[in-house]
Amino acid sequence: MLCLLEWSPAVDAGNVNHGAMSLIVQKYGGTSVGNTDRIKNVAQRVKEYHSRGDQVVVVVSAMSGVTDGLIALARQIAPLPSEREMDMLLATGEQQTIALTAIALHTLGVQAVSMTGAQAGIVTDGVHTKAKINNITPREVHKKLDGGNVVIVAGFQGETSEGQITTLGRGGSDLTAIALAAALKADLCQIYTDVDGVYTADPRIVSGAKKLPEISYDEMLELASLGAKVMQSRSVEFAKKFGVVFEVRSSLNENPGTIVKEETKNMEGVVVRGVAFDKNQAKVTLVGVPDRPGVAAKVFTALGGAAVNVDMIVQNISHGAGERQTDISFTVEKADLLKAKKVIDGLKQEAGFKECITSEKIGKLSIVGVGMKSHSGVAGKLFETLAAEGVNIDMISTSEIKISVVMDVARGEAAMKAVHAAFIG
Ligand code: ADP
Ligand code: ASP
Ligand code: MG
Repeated sequence: MLCLLEWSPAVDAGNVNHGAMSLIVQKYGGTSVGNTDRIKNVAQRVKEYHSRGDQVVVVVSAMSGVTDGLIALARQIAPLPSEREMDMLLATGEQQTIALTAIALHTLGVQAVSMTGAQAGIVTDGVHTKAKINNITPREVHKKLDGGNVVIVAGFQGETSEGQITTLGRGGSDLTAIALAAALKADLCQIYTDVDGVYTADPRIVSGAKKLPEISYDEMLELASLGAKVMQSRSVEFAKKFGVVFEVRSSLNENPGTIVKEETKNMEGVVVRGVAFDKNQAKVTLVGVPDRPGVAAKVFTALGGAAVNVDMIVQNISHGAGERQTDISFTVEKADLLKAKKVIDGLKQEAGFKECITSEKIGKLSIVGVGMKSHSGVAGKLFETLAAEGVNIDMISTSEIKISVVMDVARGEAAMKAVHAAFIG
């Protein structure tokens, strides 16, 4: 077994010597394999690498819309379906694409074999729909590569040591690719998507967004966790931990992409590297919580136990008569809201709060940059820009390299454009 903790860093993404044989991991997202013509295009690109002597491992997502469609089907039957069964269902999306990609390569005369996550040796914990990779034993992948095959691995899925099928969270094919690149000690890891790199903001929303030639792991991680869905945040966390340098680029053209790597000194010159907006947040407010030790612990331990990720937390003392009370507000992913509500409702007696109010009409706008560590006045400028747009700020959170505000989701696009113009131009 190759334990990931024993892995040593891959070489620089831009630094492959094509004289010698290289091992390349390429990941193609949903749009890149969105129809059979696109799958044929992917096969053509893979063939080019394979025919110059490289060993190629291809990780594919489900065709665009397929995962969402499967989720919608399950929800037509039950609002909160069993998470084990959801994994069983969702894993089928990627299995369609691996087989179709292998078939497309065969028609081009390329030897290729498809593998599920389990067959590729991806072993996870048992947290269904959000499983973490525990280790990868890519023995079979190596065997097939050594036999001259292109190996096509289903993204987003793994298996527990007890043989249960799991999935790795939405966007999880990115994680499959990065983790396989680490386990296989790949020379190059390329994430092919429908934009030609990482931009200063989502280019579909902010037309003036600029493509970044490079970005640090920490900035990419913040942008990804704050709503820039171009990379799944857990995959970036993994890349940072194991030093996997990777390139985000387009499957639709040959433009150079964005290299994601360790921070360098000159990156600090830029105060704000990017702006992100996360629409997939919901807010939960517990009204009239008794101001006693242990209540917050109860609430957040129960949420953690149900695998609900809580993001921002704000607590306000209300100055009424009688026992002191607080209101606690926090944000969760929209997809977890029903589950969070169920957990909270179950605690009503024990925690003694009066009411639980939820809202899905919020969004989180964030600015990110390692340069914030050494520049002052950034928060003031952000709040002034939002005020000039007439945007009311609901919650605020900061870290060394980011500032986030929760606001009305309907004003998100306008706010993003204004903030991008103020900080990036
Ligand atoms: P894939 O299916 O290839 O995994 P995704 O849809 O998950 O692709 O991610 C690509 C999308 O991410 C782009 O189409 C773009 O709209 C969005 N995106 C959001 N923020 C950014 C950003 N800062 N830079 C580039 N793309 C971004
Ligand atoms: N198909 C999965 C999703 O839509 C995984 C992925 O595309 O990366 O979230
Ligand atoms: Mg994605």
